[in-house]
Amino acid sequence: MRTPVILEEPIRRHYQAPESDLLVVAKEVVQRLLDAGHEAYLVGGSIRDMVLEDTPKDYDIATSALPKQVQKLFKKNVPVGIQFGTVMVLRKGYSYEVTTFRADGRYVDGRRPTEVIFATVVEDVERRDFTINGLLYNAETEEVIDYVGGLEDLDAKIIRTIGDPFERFGEDRLRMLRAVRFASRLSFALEDDTMKAIQQMAPRIHEVSGERIQQELMKILQGANPRRGVALLAETGLLKELIPAMEDVQTCLHRMERLEHHTERDETLSLAMLLFDLSRDDAEDFLQRYRFSNDHTKGTLTLLEQHPQLATFSEKSIAEQKKLVRQPYAHNLLLLGIDIATLQETPLESLHDMQRKLTNWTKDDLRPTPLFNGNDLKTWGYQPGPHFKEIIFALEVAQLEGHLTELIQAKQWLQEHFPKEV
Ligand code: ATP
Ligand code: MG
Repeated sequence: MRTPVILEEPIRRHYQAPESDLLVVAKEVVQRLLDAGHEAYLVGGSIRDMVLEDTPKDYDIATSALPKQVQKLFKKNVPVGIQFGTVMVLRKGYSYEVTTFRADGRYVDGRRPTEVIFATVVEDVERRDFTINGLLYNAETEEVIDYVGGLEDLDAKIIRTIGDPFERFGEDRLRMLRAVRFASRLSFALEDDTMKAIQQMAPRIHEVSGERIQQELMKILQGANPRRGVALLAETGLLKELIPAMEDVQTCLHRMERLEHHTERDETLSLAMLLFDLSRDDAEDFLQRYRFSNDHTKGTLTLLEQHPQLATFSEKSIAEQKKLVRQPYAHNLLLLGIDIATLQETPLESLHDMQRKLTNWTKDDLRPTPLFNGNDLKTWGYQPGPHFKEIIFALEVAQLEGHLTELIQAKQWLQEHFPKEV
């Protein structure tokens, strides 16, 4: 194990980042802070991504300037997290989070720091979670500055906490999930002590709010390697805590492998694949406990509930088929069905039938304009009442079946099936 966590002399590595407008403007923001006599660096995940040659999607800036000073220097700003020292600076159509160097105060209940203490750059690095997330970039000299051994860990593909993992996970339990997320997204390994600490502390993940857990889980599931993510959740013991009802992890891993083939996957599809073996109640319990949105909860439960209908799709009436195909979740239902049938080696014919129909049926086929409505019925002398609903429902079925296409047919059909009471 590496002993001094904070290196007295940082490691410096020259790094010339590929120019992008986002980076050029970020450097301008840094330069203005430097010109005003403050310290300023690009920092955090963006430097990690830069060194990995993965284009950062945003650049964060850490500075010795206090939030008020930042606001003064950059007129176009939004005080997004002023209590944590963060000001969002808007410039040339881009935005940057500029955060004053800080050392976090005490963590209460393993959640958020209770107070923010403005600090030195080294303390600011020290409060960060993993060595690979603790890198600084000096834009002037084009040097990565590393006080925590993050460059070495990036080269070795290792996730390691800055400082003692038990302490760091004790301060903020969410970091356990973040460790898994970065390890899965980057295909990195969890350093031994970091892994041991998570294995030991996994039951304490429940001290984190459902919402924060949900956000991390969603990122793991929607990232490039959900299979590795779930495998690591299992290995760390977090999976057992978060989804105790999941019995067969191996089969879930096979589903996650299938999921990886869908590059643009809907959240509800990912969740349905994750929870597929659970009972409806257990799935609902999970979705509610971790505060998944109503849309995601409803969508996922619908996919799980409707899935058994797929195997018999071709045996259904045309009206029933159309009603299934026209639902907004039909596409995801089909993807779920194909993945599960492929894994379980059950027949795919019905699914291919549905796939063809999903492509070929037009909007008009699926939602034909009703040939008459309640007002027409009244005009034709029908007494309004609950049976109107029944008639209109039956009319839709007959239209979906393709039995009725003209008003004249519909009128005849009405007389035959729903004769006027006299
Ligand atoms: P991503 O690409 O997923 O946004 P990121 O590294 O930028 O990755 P963020 O959650 O945006 O992650 O956080 C930015 C930086 O803030 C991290 O790189 C890390 O240095 C620090 N950080 C974020 N959350 C924590 C935490 N819970 N504990 C300690 N440091 C954290
Ligand atoms: Mg980020």
